[in-house]
Amino acid sequence: MNSTHPVKSFLAAPLVAVDHLQMYFPIYRGIFQQKAGDIKAVDDVSFAIFQGTTLGLVGESGCGKSTTGQAILQLPHPTAGSVKFKGEELTTLTDHQMRPYRRSMQMIFQDPYASLNPRFTIGQIIGEPLDIHHWGSPADRRERVAELLSLVGLRQQTINRYPHEFSGGQRQRVGIARALATSPEFIIADEPISALDVSIQAQVINLLDELKQKLGLTYLFIAHDLAMVRYISDQVAVMYLGKIAEWGSRNEVYGHPVHPYTQALLSAISIPNPRTAMAKKRPVLQGEVPSPSHPPAGCRFHTRCPFAEEVCSRSIPDFTNVGTASNPHLVACHFAEKFAS
Ligand code: SF4
Repeated sequence: MNSTHPVKSFLAAPLVAVDHLQMYFPIYRGIFQQKAGDIKAVDDVSFAIFQGTTLGLVGESGCGKSTTGQAILQLPHPTAGSVKFKGEELTTLTDHQMRPYRRSMQMIFQDPYASLNPRFTIGQIIGEPLDIHHWGSPADRRERVAELLSLVGLRQQTINRYPHEFSGGQRQRVGIARALATSPEFIIADEPISALDVSIQAQVINLLDELKQKLGLTYLFIAHDLAMVRYISDQVAVMYLGKIAEWGSRNEVYGHPVHPYTQALLSAISIPNPRTAMAKKRPVLQGEVPSPSHPPAGCRFHTRCPFAEEVCSRSIPDFTNVGTASNPHLVACHFAEKFAS
């Protein structure tokens, strides 16, 4: 493990600093349920998120990005590593000590159908976090719910209706209103548009972007859709099999992708201009993601990487900064400098 934070060592104090985070889930086998290994869902992940910015965390399904979001919220506590919010270490706090931080750190879930209690009215759903955190008087809470409805573009008359009476996009607006109820500073949006029709995905992204500007929010935006991540993110971290492969500003990562995995993911995005597409011949992703219970040694991408050499299967690559000190672009590849040139 590196002793210094690969991102913080370049930049000023972040709102959220994730340092060498690990989240392992034990595997038990046999009639005596003996421990047979671990699913290494998140393994030595570090990044930083700065106030008022959005970090897009992207990767294929099962790469550990949602588990990373849950580990930041201490749901559950990570296996190892550090998560700091405004400089405060969260991993050592008890559930009771975490309560004030839970007000400031909220989550928007992927599936607006499953995440809303069908027996509750919209008003009850949005007001639930206010009740849990004993926010103001009942009249204050009703006023706050009305304010949140208008903030996310829902009519006041919807307050007594039930989730099944709403479309997917409207339900996600309810989910966003609920996440905003306690005036959080930091929001983890976990695949917030992937369950929605394509026609309304852009509306929800625009709403998140507007709210960010209006309320000064900071986001961790988790997604597998690189096109949407590009639209909303300031920084982008690309994750592969529990580790960060590449991290940098949106313009750096999309404009000059260096890690072969990032290049392969970007090759799957349609490029409107065919001439540009021809000019940007990038590796195509082949094969399946290996199991996180038996990740490959060395660089985890070596079993699928078209440029893998002998060193890749025996040595874990450190981050190389192919950007500058003020605009870092970190790449976990033994040949980062060669690919960047
Ligand atoms: Fe490919 Fe080797 Fe770089 Fe990993 S370290 S991305 S296997 S070239």
